[in-house]
Formats: sequence, structure tokens, C-alpha cells
Amino acid sequence: MAKVETQGLEKYFGEVKAVDGVDIASREGEFLVLLGPSGCGKTTLLRMIAGLEKPSAGDILIGGEAVTHLPPRARGVAMVFQSYALYPHMTIYKNIAFPLKAVSMPKDDIDRKVRWAASMFGIERLLRRKPRELSGGERQRVALARALVREPNVFLLDEPLSNLDAKLRTSAREELHRFQKDVEITTIYVTHDQIEAMGMGDRIAVMNQGKVHQLGSPKEVYSDPSDTFVAGFLGSPPMNLIKTEDRIIGFRPECFLPRELLGGSGDLESFTVEVSRVEDLGSDRLVYGRLEKRFGHHQVVANLPTSFTHYSIETGGTYDFAVPRKDVKFFDVESGLRAEPIPL
Ligand code: ATP
Repeated sequence: MAKVETQGLEKYFGEVKAVDGVDIASREGEFLVLLGPSGCGKTTLLRMIAGLEKPSAGDILIGGEAVTHLPPRARGVAMVFQSYALYPHMTIYKNIAFPLKAVSMPKDDIDRKVRWAASMFGIERLLRRKPRELSGGERQRVALARALVREPNVFLLDEPLSNLDAKLRTSAREELHRFQKDVEITTIYVTHDQIEAMGMGDRIAVMNQGKVHQLGSPKEVYSDPSDTFVAGFLGSPPMNLIKTEDRIIGFRPECFLPRELLGGSGDLESFTVEVSRVEDLGSDRLVYGRLEKRFGHHQVVANLPTSFTHYSIETGGTYDFAVPRKDVKFFDVESGLRAEPIPL
């Protein structure tokens, strides 16, 4: 287990600045997620940490040692890509055993480790097969097991679960998370899937256009976003962001409820909503509408949990909604950064 640190890390591809001055430091044994939209530089950042891409500027430290100029194999890292490559002519057993055989580990130890890694991913019954006899999801699990078997200091994962179907993905997420906590290997995990990030990460680095906008626990980045990008990227639907003259104000759809349902919630900020659409999703009810004139008739969405099904809301009606004052976030109009609260 080792700490991974980047200092002023930059990467240009010609004119394109893929990574733009990233300073992050993982904690030892942490599960750190790099989350951001497609093209924001997550993979490039991970590949630089792995040693597969040369930085244009800046440094990378693993376990306190500068590794910026070391080749991948000297860094003690194992990486699993979305496009994994298994050896087609070898059995699954031999594929997983391969990195251990390469370092001349005794046969009994190899056997124990292969079976242990296979059991972590529920693929023991596949050990005698060849890769072509496996589904895409099963192959992905083999690739993960093959990386895990080496027990590296740092584990770098680039969207490793994206080829799995939804159900497998949930169980693989749980297995991977449990495994990571058991072995305590520092893990950096790239994804654009916020559910994966929120569910697995000890902390999340939210990225956009080559920069890290915020690094914090899932709760921090969700409830206390540092700017409008983070506020608008996380959550489904994301935070309502309403531009006024002095501030951008933000509140989460689930904090935005009919006023009479918020009795006893402390200070409230009230709004009038003209409802344009109601979506009943079973577990939640999404209410879309627009605010009153003083907020420029801005579009908003509220998310009412099932416990409020008794409360009837009709399309076309106008309702009093409110947000607990503590749940309203304020952002600077120019920079988008968090700003001092003001009265609404
Ligand atoms: P995704 O989630 O789609 O994989 P990402 O966040 O991982 O995206 P990167 O793959 O790191 O993003 O790409 C960041 C930027 O750098 C993009 O604009 C991409 O087009 C560019 N880029 C990445 N690799 C290269 C390359 N080898 N040559 C030129 N440009 C590249």
C-alpha cells in the first residue's frame, strides 16, 4: 500500500491540453475515484501514473518516491483497462498465473493465489477454459483477477466494469470494493459513472477539461460542491442552478419539496412552482416546472420520495415549494465558485 501523488501534472497532445495542472494526493490504501465527463482527461492522468504516458510537465510520486521517469514495471502498479487483453491460447488459470510465473513464484504459492483471486471474482469454475469460451463480463473478471494476483502497491483501474451488464456490474462493484478493503491496496479508479463513484470511492476527484474541480468524500462533493460544475455534474437529476443578479443559487431536487411537507425543517426559502410535468418513477416522483417571475421563470425539478405519494400534484397547477435554508448553496456568477450566502 502506497500513497500516490501528482504535482503540477500536465499533458499536451499537440495543441490539446488533456491534463491541466493536476495536484492530487491519495491516502494510503484509499479507493480514489477520478470522475468526469468523456474527454476530461481521466484516462490520460491514470496512464501517466502508470507510466504509459509521459507527462509534459510535473511530477508523480508513489510511496513518497518520484517515479516520473521510471518505466511502468518499476512503479509497483497494476493496471486494468476497459479493453483488457488476455492470452487467447492459455487457459484462464494460466492467464491469472502468468504474472506470478514471470517472477518465478513457487508452484504451490501460485496455485493458492490463483484460486484465491478467482474466488474473489466468482470465476473458479472457469479456470480450465480458454478466453474465447467466456462472455465479455467473465473475461473482464479474469483481467481483474490477473491484476489482483500480483498484489501491487497501487491498483489503477480504467472503467473496468463498463462491459458488464447492469446486474453483474452491481455485484462486481460490491466484490471489487470488498476486495479493495480487504487487501488495502491504494486504488485509483476511473469512471464517468457517478453511481459507481459514489458507491465505491472513499474520495472522488471530480474532473473537467483537464482540471480537478474538487477532491472530497462522496458526501462532500454531493452536498458541498465547490463550484457549479461539480453541482451540475453530480446527481440525477442534478442540482437546480438558478442565475440571479448577485448569485447563482443551487438546491438539490430532493431538498425541494411542497412547503407543507417541510414543517419542522427550520428556516425555509419559498418558491412558487408552475408544474409542467410529473414523472412517476416508482421509487421517486419527479416534478418539473418553472419558478415565479422574480427568478426569471427558471426551470426547476423537484424529487418527491414515495413516502409523499399521498400528496397530489397535477400538471398545470401552481404550488408553494420550499427548500430548507441550510440546503441552499450560493455560487459566484462570474467564476461559478462557492460564495457567501445572501438573502433571497
Ligand atoms: P473517456 O471517458 O471518454 O475515456 P477521458 O476523460 O478518459 O475520456 P482522455 O482519454 O484522457 O479523457 O482524453 C483527454 C483529451 O485528450 C481528449 O480531448 C482526447 O481527445 C485527447 N487525447 C487523449 N489521448 C490522445 C492522443 N493519444 N492523442 C491526441 N489526443 C489525445
